Amino acid sequence: MKSNKRQFASDNYAGICPEAWQAMEEANHGHAPAYGDDCWTAEATEAVRELFEIDCEVFFTFNGTAANALAMACLCQSYHSVICHEHAHVETDECGAPEFFSNGMKVLLVSGADGKVAPAAVEQIVRRRRDIHFPKPRVLSITESTEMGTVYVPEELDAIWETARRLNLRVHMDGARFANAVAALGRSPKEITWKVGVDVLCFGGTKNGMAVGECIVFFKKELAEEFGYRCKQAGQLASKMRFLAAPWVGMLRSGAWLRHGESANARARQLEQLLRDIPGVEILFPVQANAVFARFPPHVASRLHDKGWKFYDFIGSGGSRLMCSWDTTEEDVSAFAADVREAVDKSQVSSTP
Ligand SMILES: *Cc1c(COP(=O)(O)O)cnc(C)c1O
Repeated sequence: MKSNKRQFASDNYAGICPEAWQAMEEANHGHAPAYGDDCWTAEATEAVRELFEIDCEVFFTFNGTAANALAMACLCQSYHSVICHEHAHVETDECGAPEFFSNGMKVLLVSGADGKVAPAAVEQIVRRRRDIHFPKPRVLSITESTEMGTVYVPEELDAIWETARRLNLRVHMDGARFANAVAALGRSPKEITWKVGVDVLCFGGTKNGMAVGECIVFFKKELAEEFGYRCKQAGQLASKMRFLAAPWVGMLRSGAWLRHGESANARARQLEQLLRDIPGVEILFPVQANAVFARFPPHVASRLHDKGWKFYDFIGSGGSRLMCSWDTTEEDVSAFAADVREAVDKSQVSSTP
């Protein structure tokens, strides 16, 4: 067996949380109808509707890439385009799945501080070309919380919606870390989704503590027309659907989804504070969810890697990305920070003439 030390590489390094695990165990009794005709899927769908306080259409897929790509394909024709941030997962980490599943839709990139789409940049890209030779902008995709560990506040989402409405764009929200955003804002889920114009949300389960699974929520039911066929064609219709659905029941009904988001966020804040105390370490983005982006002095990252710590150094605009998970402990954070301090001290010694 290999070491199973908790890491800061990604929140998907973490295992399955007890609430998700227990629900899967409860679902594992006897036989149940396949392909979503079971009581767990019905119950999970109901739990999602209650959480968002609206009668929405709900689907479960295995992963977030498929959720995003299929949701966007459903909002687009092949000659349309989707506008997203240049660091958005749909652009940088889905291997062209959005373009593939929509048979040619084009992803248009805008920039914006702290990983957030700037409404003015959206306006500019839409207004730049309105002729028939350019793919017609149809969807605005935002990530909440963002790839940089920041969070759009409701007022920012309102501004995004106002822009989208004026430009006739539908709004897709990549919520791989939606729980962290809700925990950070302390607002109800509806206040940062359908109340501010989000048409479809890809609600992340995996990074929140499930083994596998994302939930696609269409707040306007008519937009989900024939979506089930897309899921099936893409190989995303689970035959033993109850095991994708049951964890949602366990997580939503117990409130664990939010507690885990809060806990991961708290660990990120703790990590930020400890790192800010270490000379030469720079924090690159406001820490609002469960990520800390830090720039370390030379050689420090490789020393930490040598010590067995895993984290990514290539995401976004440089620096090291440190993700906290539902199960990251205070001790994990202090142990990591202590090793950073030691590595920084060593690098100062070695750079003294
Ligand atoms: C992890 C993640 C996803 C989903 O990725 P999969 O590996 O396909 O499950 C989607 N969006 C963002 C922002 C993510 O971080």
